[in-house]
Amino acid sequence: MPFRKCIGCANVKSRAEMIRIMKLYDTGEIIINPTSRHFGRSSYICYNIECINIILKKKKLQKILKREVPAEIIEYLEKVEQ
Ligand SMILES: [Zn+2]
Repeated sequence: MPFRKCIGCANVKSRAEMIRIMKLYDTGEIIINPTSRHFGRSSYICYNIECINIILKKKKLQKILKREVPAEIIEYLEKVEQ
């Protein structure tokens, strides 16, 4: 089973238990929980409000992806409760 590291808490978890943010290789577009037809660089975050708060406060996604994150992705993250 694939495991990935959370960019908030640095814990390693099953990929299926995490939010996935992807920057597409071709367009540079940033999407959330992409389907398998998308190819890009992925970052993973726990479904955990503490991890999300760290990421949002420190603008970690913007630093890792080297561009602004679309408002709808920020809104999605802000709505995650657990
Ligand atoms: Zn985490």
